Amino acid sequence: MKDSSKTIISWDQVDTVLVDMDGTLLDLAFDNFFWREVVPKEYAKQNGLSENIAREELMSRYKALQGRLEWYCIDYWTDDLNLDIRGLKHKYQSRIQFLPGAIEFLDYLRISKKRVILVTNAHPDTFAIKAQKTGVDKHVDAVFSSHEFEFPKEHKEFWPRFYASQKFTLLRTVLIDDSAPVLEAARDFGIGKTIAISCPDSRFASQEVAGFVSVEGVEKLIF
Ligand SMILES: [Mg+2]
Repeated sequence: MKDSSKTIISWDQVDTVLVDMDGTLLDLAFDNFFWREVVPKEYAKQNGLSENIAREELMSRYKALQGRLEWYCIDYWTDDLNLDIRGLKHKYQSRIQFLPGAIEFLDYLRISKKRVILVTNAHPDTFAIKAQKTGVDKHVDAVFSSHEFEFPKEHKEFWPRFYASQKFTLLRTVLIDDSAPVLEAARDFGIGKTIAISCPDSRFASQEVAGFVSVEGVEKLIF
């Protein structure tokens, strides 16, 4: 592990670490379970549909909003589906958890004196629930939700806005994220290093993230 991680990243060339939350630090199993199981079940109940029909309808609604800020917006879904999304997230919050090795990775960055900024597309209320459950906010130097910048991280408008608010040396910054469109937008903007997470949901096998250097999980970046 020691040797392979060195070929992926040289930490002495990095000052700032931009790290994603869901699928990078926290297990995407929660989000997948929530949107693919919990929400369809509740939606079916509320509208007198079978769960399969409800799931099919929701999947196409989700798909239509992919890459847009609404997709991440708890208020949008609360109104659109007429479901108490906040309440449901609270109800199932015991399933929210770190990915293996994520805390050790953040500890390593702290000891190494890197500036660690959590940058998430999660809505601030979703972030609050996840932070309360895991304490992830206590392991980083700062937290930003893309909602503050009016564009999601996969949109090219996000990065100049975020950069203007933060000021970091592009070439000495790494972004770690499980989303290829997000990594692409960051790379196009000029973020010096990008690393993909290929196993964001601990229940599934890892999947190649085309076009990016990837590791199964952040723990593979510690040496
Ligand atoms: Mg993610």
